[in-house]
Amino acid sequence: MGEFDLIERYFKRPARQAVLGVGDDCALLQPAPGTQLAISCDMLVEGRHFLSTVDPLRLGHKALAVNLSDLAACGAKPLAFTLALALPRAEESWAAPFAQGLFALADAHGCELIGGDTTRGPLNICITVFGEVPVLAGRSQALLRSGAQAGDELYVSGNLGDARLALEVFRGTLSVPAPVFEAARLRMEMPTPRVALGLALRGIATAAIDVSDGLLGDLGHILKQSGIGATVNADICATLVAARAGCAPEPGQPGAEIGPDQWRSLALAGGDDYELLFTAPASQREAVAAAARNSQTPVTRIGQIDQQLGLRLINGKGQTLPNNYTSFDHFV
Ligand code: ADP
Ligand code: MG
Repeated sequence: MGEFDLIERYFKRPARQAVLGVGDDCALLQPAPGTQLAISCDMLVEGRHFLSTVDPLRLGHKALAVNLSDLAACGAKPLAFTLALALPRAEESWAAPFAQGLFALADAHGCELIGGDTTRGPLNICITVFGEVPVLAGRSQALLRSGAQAGDELYVSGNLGDARLALEVFRGTLSVPAPVFEAARLRMEMPTPRVALGLALRGIATAAIDVSDGLLGDLGHILKQSGIGATVNADICATLVAARAGCAPEPGQPGAEIGPDQWRSLALAGGDDYELLFTAPASQREAVAAAARNSQTPVTRIGQIDQQLGLRLINGKGQTLPNNYTSFDHFV
């Protein structure tokens, strides 16, 4: 199978909303009047972002999910995406399930593939997504990292740390009961982009980011860009590791060796969570709860934004904890 057969067979579908899709030198998109385009690009490299043994269907899902997560963090509605692929071989056994996982998620979000590039090379997947954000009375409704204010409350969606837990089990540094591992592995390999929540938070959240490198590291971006500080309850965060419920505390059982500080570390610095971390004024508590309900996405209040710069961690009793949790960086 050649390059053009591969595109034709697996990646070319009739354009729906796009003016022009796959097949010409450019795709054409027509954003609705009164909207801005939100654009984001994420690359997945074999051995770096995924294990070579991963099911291609899950990889197709994840490649798009991590990009949709960026649109979610901006409160943008997904429109379309491009796909740049480097593949060692044009194989049906890889391309068919990859396309299946990719398009299942794309269709669930009404986001269409409008173009890309295909080349031979070490497996590498690069997606660019395009979304739409309304402009109201001259103001963009996009959620940014820079809008948090002292007195705001800090929230996170869903669960934290499960993807990292699965990675550590793969690495052999932790062991947990088999069903707990399978659930955590699903979180690692098929994250859920919180698109509906991001849309529901427009006009409510003051700042937002998606958690990809670890909660504290990503929170650091909000703090820096907003010029404020925060206090985070580490023990509330630690309860958000879904795997914790399934791990026996009895010595000798899988999971029993994971102590309170390790659960905190998984939650605070795990990475690959693709949850939304956001701030909202205390006066918007009801509105945040309604956004969570309407988007069927659990949301937990984990801290607050302070005038005082820097990040303070507290435990469940309100006592200060040292912050020695480091987040992911490709170059350190
Ligand atoms: P060009 O060389 O002019 O860039 P290509 O021959 O690379 O065009 O691609 C032909 C068409 O197929 C273009 O419309 C391009 O966007 C599309 N395309 C190439 N690779 C992919 C892919 N992996 N997924 C979707 N569309 C693709
Ligand atoms: Mg090309």
